[in-house]
Amino acid sequence: MPLNTSAKPQSPDISKDINSHLLHTVGADPGAASSSEMMQAVAQVARAQLSERWVHTQREERKHKARRVVYLSMEFLMGRTLSNALAALNLTEGAAAGALQHAKNLEDLTGCEPDAALGNGGLGRLAACFLDSMATLGLPSFGYGIRYEYGMFAQEIQGGNQVEYPDSWLKDGTPWEFPRAELTYPVRFGGWVAHEDGKVVWKHAGEVAAKAYDMVVPGHGTHKVSTLRLWKAVAPDHIDLGAFNTGDYARAAAAKNEYENISWVLYPNDSTPAGRELRLKQEYFFVAASMQDLIKRHLDEHHTLDNLAEHVAIHLNDTHPAIGVAELMRILCDEHDMLWDKAWALCGKTFSYTNHTLMPEALETWPVSLIQHVLPRHLEIIFRINKEFLDQAARFRPGDQEFLKRLSLIDETGERRVRMAHLSVVGSHQINGVSALHSELLVRTIFTDFASLWPHRFTNMTNGVTPRRWLAQANPSLSKLLDASLGSGWRLDLNKLQGLKEHQGDAAFREQFRAIKRYNKVRLAHLIKETTGVVVSPDSLFDVQVKRIHEYKRQLLNVLHVVTRYQAILANPDAPWVPRTVIFAGKAASSYVAAKSIIRLIHDVGLTVNNDERIGDKLKVVFIPNYGVSVAEIIMPGADLSEQISTAGTEASGTGNMKLALNGALTIGTDDGANIEIRQNVGDDNIFIFGLKTPEVRDLRVTGYHPLNYYEGNPTLKAVLNAIGEGEFSPDEPGRYSALINSLVWGGDHYLLLADYASYVATQQQVDGVYRQPELWSQRAIANVAGMGVFSSDRTIGEYARQIWRVTPAPY
Ligand SMILES: *Cc1c(COP(=O)(O)O)cnc(C)c1O
Repeated sequence: MPLNTSAKPQSPDISKDINSHLLHTVGADPGAASSSEMMQAVAQVARAQLSERWVHTQREERKHKARRVVYLSMEFLMGRTLSNALAALNLTEGAAAGALQHAKNLEDLTGCEPDAALGNGGLGRLAACFLDSMATLGLPSFGYGIRYEYGMFAQEIQGGNQVEYPDSWLKDGTPWEFPRAELTYPVRFGGWVAHEDGKVVWKHAGEVAAKAYDMVVPGHGTHKVSTLRLWKAVAPDHIDLGAFNTGDYARAAAAKNEYENISWVLYPNDSTPAGRELRLKQEYFFVAASMQDLIKRHLDEHHTLDNLAEHVAIHLNDTHPAIGVAELMRILCDEHDMLWDKAWALCGKTFSYTNHTLMPEALETWPVSLIQHVLPRHLEIIFRINKEFLDQAARFRPGDQEFLKRLSLIDETGERRVRMAHLSVVGSHQINGVSALHSELLVRTIFTDFASLWPHRFTNMTNGVTPRRWLAQANPSLSKLLDASLGSGWRLDLNKLQGLKEHQGDAAFREQFRAIKRYNKVRLAHLIKETTGVVVSPDSLFDVQVKRIHEYKRQLLNVLHVVTRYQAILANPDAPWVPRTVIFAGKAASSYVAAKSIIRLIHDVGLTVNNDERIGDKLKVVFIPNYGVSVAEIIMPGADLSEQISTAGTEASGTGNMKLALNGALTIGTDDGANIEIRQNVGDDNIFIFGLKTPEVRDLRVTGYHPLNYYEGNPTLKAVLNAIGEGEFSPDEPGRYSALINSLVWGGDHYLLLADYASYVATQQQVDGVYRQPELWSQRAIANVAGMGVFSSDRTIGEYARQIWRVTPAPY
């Protein structure tokens, strides 16, 4: 094997710094420090170095008046920070040696850190991968979001049911944030608008302070760092004084809470808007604070707003920050006396917007009456934007009233509502989808009318994931093999993985690759044993579906296959079955009844199958609780098969699919989202694609879909649905799943599970066929890793930077 040609400089000895921080910062005896105290001390060593890098990066960006990108996102699913920070600072080996002096492994320390779970799923994790790439590419950049006191709920399983617990990730403090006491901005709500001789004055009714807390985002292979600035809501000082002075502490506290609850909790929804006033306030709160902050920075450097668009690109991660369009207009026109037309032109050069979903029920709208109540001036501005926009559109297609109704920022059917996606589109110069298919569907479906007006605004930016976290950190064993065979450069240039193609045919290499997969499966089997009590064999095929639980992602289709296999094994126990462990993980939104019922069903099927002595290792079903970034880091490297089985046309991109393939799993999936581009990059032979394609889904729905025909026409399917629906897996409550099964057979089966079932089951048999040939399987797994270079978020961010933001790495 060739030597590692691009060896890193040696990691410095930091044991003295660790001991010093134990003694002086943590307040612990270096001779008797716990893992958690050690974690804090090592974090302080890293923090100090990151702080220096932050100050230096900021100073240089100010000096060069760099053009910056501002990434506005309600969610950042960051996970843990320590391992990533150590890797970026080249302190990993030094920290491991330091830990060893205290008789600890580095993993004992890193495992003590709670995840920063300030997001639900893919959208929030994408924002986190993007920050990593922005820092690594050296782009002058700020991420802005909310410092939720409670992030994504922790999931426990009790009696097969999901139970939600608050995630108080800050309860022991975090070494990673830098409170910026001097950065505090007022954010106003409610009241009314006075129009006094040409001047507009918003007579607000309430005000809350937004306080900045920075998280430093280290770049890799560079000393540059980026900033994630999170806002905390604080009651203004005057608010509780009255009650406090009269000794009414309870009333004082209640008044304070009224304001501060804005940054208390992350809404635990995924792809459905939360129709709540507090959610609207959250959106405006973080956008208003971020705008004030970026405008202050701009004025400090440039002393005029006329050239704002030349120096800042503001990106909307989905529609959640779309109110920013109206807010910037308000600031420019009302506070800086800019003329409307000039301000609007400036706005249009500043904003860009990423759409994340086509599903109509997931498109955010707010009742006009609610916006009137919470943000009366913004509603006026939205109305004026709409009027001028519709006047322009009317000139484009004179007399076409339906066209204007479809385009309007206001949905006039029923209760009048503001369409936040429409506000985002009219306010942005570029709008992108997140995979080739999704971007094409955007301009053919929900944004067709806009695309007829402005074809050049619409573009595609296929998602990616950071190889630092999802390969280097999550899979150290495979990383070592890659370093030895390709050099370590793949971390910063993932296309280098193509070099693996040369090794695919090398039996010794495949042997090593298999040994690493086995090692990672043993690690995953330990996690399964620890969290579920179920013992699984690392020699079985690890079949993995991990993602939010949602009907469109079709975990239920997976369960139908599991039950099919169970019944087939019972009918034919002596056939040469490929042993399988089917692994699920994911959270269901707390109010999503069907998703919770699917979690329960997975557990019920698992209880039956796992305890059936006739089955043994031939089939196991497990559900790993509390899916999140740190759990994913253990699951991804241990997967053989990646389930990406959404109904074609529903998954905008997916990024879990990328993480799994990057770690050498083969995908079984539909022609959907980024699966299509994964197929193009790893090759048709190295992926299992099944089911209806997007146009076929459309045609079937148009001509009329009759799930009952599939039920009656396929005896295997019928037996499976009957078994579940009649209570074979819930004998204590036979009707437990009748509603779930009825929604398929009688309730329209909106996501076409029954239509895709036969194709899915047949393709699963092909999977078995390949898995029976370990050499062939390894060859295909290696081809997957080799082909994943393009799915680095560095590629994605490079495209955003060049084509949408026009920001370049600062030259220092
Ligand atoms: C990558 C990731 C997701 C997104 O998974 P999909 O399969 O693309 O839906 C969700 N949650 C976590 C914790 C992730 O790491």
